[in-house]
Amino acid sequence: MAEPDYDAIILGGGAAGLMCAATAGQRGRRVLVVDHAAEVGRKILISGGGRCNFTNIGTVPERFLSANPHFARSALARYTPADFLELVERHGIAWHEKTLGQLFCDGSARQIVAMLLDECPAPFVEIATGQPVGAVDHGDGLYRVEVGGRSVTASSLVIGTGGPSIPKMGATGFAYDLARRFGLKVVEPRPALVPLTLGGDDVLFRDLSGVSAEVVARNDRAAFREAALFTHRGLSGPAILQISSYWRNGETVAVDFLPDRPAGWLVEAKRSTPRATLPRLLAAALPGRLAETLGQRIGLAGDLAGLPDKALAEAERRLADWTFTPNGSEGFAKAEVTVGGISTADLSSRTMEARKVPGLYAIGEAVDVTGWLGGYNFQWAWASGFAAGEVV
Ligand SMILES: Cc1cc2nc3c(=O)[nH]c(=O)nc-3n(C[C@H](O)[C@H](O)[C@H](O)COP(=O)(O)OP(=O)(O)OC[C@H]3O[C@@H](n4cnc5c(N)ncnc54)[C@H](O)[C@@H]3O)c2cc1C
Repeated sequence: MAEPDYDAIILGGGAAGLMCAATAGQRGRRVLVVDHAAEVGRKILISGGGRCNFTNIGTVPERFLSANPHFARSALARYTPADFLELVERHGIAWHEKTLGQLFCDGSARQIVAMLLDECPAPFVEIATGQPVGAVDHGDGLYRVEVGGRSVTASSLVIGTGGPSIPKMGATGFAYDLARRFGLKVVEPRPALVPLTLGGDDVLFRDLSGVSAEVVARNDRAAFREAALFTHRGLSGPAILQISSYWRNGETVAVDFLPDRPAGWLVEAKRSTPRATLPRLLAAALPGRLAETLGQRIGLAGDLAGLPDKALAEAERRLADWTFTPNGSEGFAKAEVTVGGISTADLSSRTMEARKVPGLYAIGEAVDVTGWLGGYNFQWAWASGFAAGEVV
């Protein structure tokens, strides 16, 4: 076998690729990172509103979607939020917990990219940016990749080019095409953590653009209590982004607009405040325009005292289980991540190596593992990048 130029070529200098390069480089492996963008880590730079929600201390495998819910377990256990936090602190990056275990930089996300680059030891890790990847071949135990007009070889090839979300930032489906060429299966990619659009009867809700409320958004598979935001196209906000990952075209999403109200509260209100009206009760609990719209839709006018218990119970049920049927989502153009990707059935959960293609690895968002909103996707990128970086 000819002597390779590198031990590993990592395609994609994003979150996962940089972590993989740092880990392998620190083991003394010679690594080339290739990225077609002019700079590495562009999604890190725009993440978390520019402050990078770099992990979540509530990371558990149950907060990740995959055709194999157990796949992420091993890598997540071997590289934890505490491990990444230790790195952040070692680099003197100030951070804070925002909400629900989400850790952010106090300053700029640029610090995270600088930290990752700093962790890549110079003689071992080479980074080639602005380099389109050309032909990729495999033969004689070596991977050969055309990079910016030259041909380079390595004994390992790592696919870390992410998913197709936000194509205007250079995101592509390259990982899937390459994986398929090597015989790996790809679980149908869908936009996730994405706003949902409303049409038909629900179109009236678009008039509420800008209004938000804390709700529970749920379907048969999951439920999230966070803010929902009405937009000029439909629904957004954390609760909706979260449920969007579990939603498929044609399905409904149920919203509980009053998640703190106990069962029977409206009939109880009739007893305790018979002169109250439903619009007044709603206006006290919800933003004005939302209360008005819901009140109009339910259509119960007059004092509670004059309304039958049955009608009040039905109004309560609707408020707790308001059914929207989104007519679509805002698609990959607005999706924070991609659900689906390179099938975990074809990968080792310990090393991320393709079971039937020795030396080929897939990491990060390219793989069929998708986290919840809130730092989970970066944690998967770090953990899967680390897992491969330990063995390439
Ligand atoms: C707006 C936004 C905000 C986000 N905020 C957060 C957050 O706060 N917390 C969180 O956990 N997650 C967040 N995410 C998700 C997170 O950014 C991704 O899950 C994560 O970046 C995936 O890491 P990755 O290394 O797999 O892919 P990426 O980081 O996308 O890196 C892939 C790299 O591959 C390169 N590439 C692509 N195609 C090719 C090709 N053909 N040839 C060469 N190079 C190629 C790209 O230029 C890129 O540098 C956010 C995503 C978006 C879009």
